[in-house]
Amino acid sequence: MPHVTYLGFPRIGRRRELKRALESHWRGESSATELLDTARDLRHRHWALAREAGADSVPVNDFSLYDHVLDTAVLLDAIPDRYRALDAADPLAAYFAMARGVQTASVDLPALEMTKWFDTNYHYLVPELSTGQRFAARTDKLIGEFREATAAGHLGRPVVLGPISFLRLAKTTDGSDALALLDAILPAYVDVLTALAAEGAAWVQIDEPCLALDLDDTARDAYRHAYATLAAANGPRILLATYFAALDDNLPLAVSLPVAGLHVDLVRAPEQLEAVAQALPTDRVLSAGVVDGRNIWLSDPGKVMGQLRALSARIADDRLWVATSCSLLHVPIDLTGENDLRSSLRDWLSFARQKIAELRRYADALAGDPDAMNALARQSERVATRAKSSDVVRVDVRARLRQLTPQAAQRRSGYSSRVVSQRERFGLPELPTTTIGSFPQTQELRKARSAYRAGKLDTATYEAVLRDDITRAVRFQESIGIDVLVHGEPERNDMVEYFGEQLDGYAFTANGWVQSYGSRCVKPPVIYGDVARPEPMTVRWSAYAQSLTQRPMKGMLTGPVTMLQWSFVRDDLPREEVCRQIALALRDEVHDLEAAGIGIIQIDEPALREGLPLRRAEWANYLGWAVHAFRIAAGGVSDATQIHTHMCYSEFNDIIESVAAMDADVISIETSRSRMELLDAFTRFRYPNGIGPGVYDIHSPRIPSEDEMADLLTKALAVLRPDQLWVNPDCGLKTRGWPEVESALKAMVSAAERLRARV
Ligand code: GLN
Ligand code: ZN
Repeated sequence: MPHVTYLGFPRIGRRRELKRALESHWRGESSATELLDTARDLRHRHWALAREAGADSVPVNDFSLYDHVLDTAVLLDAIPDRYRALDAADPLAAYFAMARGVQTASVDLPALEMTKWFDTNYHYLVPELSTGQRFAARTDKLIGEFREATAAGHLGRPVVLGPISFLRLAKTTDGSDALALLDAILPAYVDVLTALAAEGAAWVQIDEPCLALDLDDTARDAYRHAYATLAAANGPRILLATYFAALDDNLPLAVSLPVAGLHVDLVRAPEQLEAVAQALPTDRVLSAGVVDGRNIWLSDPGKVMGQLRALSARIADDRLWVATSCSLLHVPIDLTGENDLRSSLRDWLSFARQKIAELRRYADALAGDPDAMNALARQSERVATRAKSSDVVRVDVRARLRQLTPQAAQRRSGYSSRVVSQRERFGLPELPTTTIGSFPQTQELRKARSAYRAGKLDTATYEAVLRDDITRAVRFQESIGIDVLVHGEPERNDMVEYFGEQLDGYAFTANGWVQSYGSRCVKPPVIYGDVARPEPMTVRWSAYAQSLTQRPMKGMLTGPVTMLQWSFVRDDLPREEVCRQIALALRDEVHDLEAAGIGIIQIDEPALREGLPLRRAEWANYLGWAVHAFRIAAGGVSDATQIHTHMCYSEFNDIIESVAAMDADVISIETSRSRMELLDAFTRFRYPNGIGPGVYDIHSPRIPSEDEMADLLTKALAVLRPDQLWVNPDCGLKTRGWPEVESALKAMVSAAERLRARV
């Protein structure tokens, strides 16, 4: 019978127990021991849950207190020098310092850079390496967790990020090529494998997602060299795991590597099934990723059984593993308890626990088990009702999209004349200051919101709290001299959820949390039907905020690509079509804001880059429809209305032309952690429109000084025209506290004033 397993499990806990434990520890309210106890409980609970659902073996070391790439850096002792002293004294504190930065009376350490994990909304910490880097195996976490799993009676399969992917995801601080460190890093990996073998691990899962990217000959050679070395280490059998895309032209390479098994993603890339089955040497295990680790729809038994039958015709059952397409990190834990979902919708969904149960049914059915076959027949019926359901298609929405003209995606004039009208209208100083949208969400505000949601606070009282919050934000911004104000987004729990709740075609889960970074989770909405906007979504709050001040108030919307990218999207319609539906709804909102006197409107697209396909050959198509959707949303306004956009965590080099094609009047980006390095793409391209490179790292509790920010602005001014430079933080401030935000923004305004005097 095929073996049932999965590549990794969500860490955060069904009730976000890890989040609470981490944050209480960071606040100094609980000890390291308490935090580690919670972490251990979660690991045990999740292994047990997976076993009960039907997994034969469980991944180990997929758990992380913050991030698995950071864990890998620690596993290899690739700890940048600035954290070394702290690491020697208190490794856990050093770990969190690398993740979040630390600022006390005696230490002031900025965090590592953070960036998106492939095309997901999960963020990893970017390892910092340099020429001459030393590595060593530090296996305490890995071995500790393996022993835990074994002691609990599980067949554990340790997971580590592979050497080539690790190096490729890292950055070097001296501009050298990270792959040049391969010979230095391999002995550490060999030691890891040796240690695992000594513990009795039968298998190790080595994740090499980069094997599904475009590779040049040097990278291919590196793969050959690395895996020849690892195979010679006499470690556990290696399952080489790839996911998120097809192996494609790297298939010959993948099957030539001397490993015991290969995992492929047959959800994202079902077309590779035949080729993989044919190319795989007969002594290898094939781990078939047939159940989607990235989305929450119940799988279609017709499709999956077809795939598994095709595979089992070629591959002996004891060499066929039935698995999720990738780690389940990207889906919520359990559908049980989601009682507020419409019953038909609930019937169409499957979370981590249900997905493992699906795998069990598939494996059992393949082995001829009649109960499993019956269960799959019922599953097929559920999937079929979804395809037939009428409330997923809206004739009006489809018709409006068909009638869309090319002009809809066009501003009336080019930037050079728009900017003149806008300058006249707003009369802003050089280097205008603004913020990205949200202000701190206080305990009081959060309490009011949850009471309101629970029906314990009436609408009038809740809205009075929101008005107070907006007033406070406006008064504060005026008092420190910010030029373009925001209302602070107190009415929003989350930038996608807030809009999704007001749009048709969206549904919400009660506990469908997914980790975004560290303790931060998001609850992606479910887009199950055609999207339409029944009524204005933000106009009331923006107009109220504008009524409080003479200064321009920026309206704040989440863009179509981000609305798509941060939701669980229906899989029965092309993504680009869903994106255009959202764009039309936003276009109406932009129009209503403009009509209500809001002259500056920001349409956030932080997820534009993360949506890039893994393979370059597919980029142009994606960027084409993504940019077009943004332009549909923004295209309907007059020249004097200023459209902003915002993107964080993006590497812009490859997409700068498309970012320019969005033609926003102003873009704000995240640049402070990289010390303006991320601005290079804009300056090389001679990006013409307004640009606000972030000067304040809002993902760290550290408060940047005026000098630090003035220094960053000086760097920016060296490469940008003074008339195009805006001054702003990296991102929204909702996760920060008021006192730090007050000091930081005051310092930011002073830094802008200092530089203004010079230009
Ligand atoms: N306007 C949003 C905010 O300020 C943008 C958040 C984001 O880019 N992730 O919170
Ligand atoms: Zn942002």
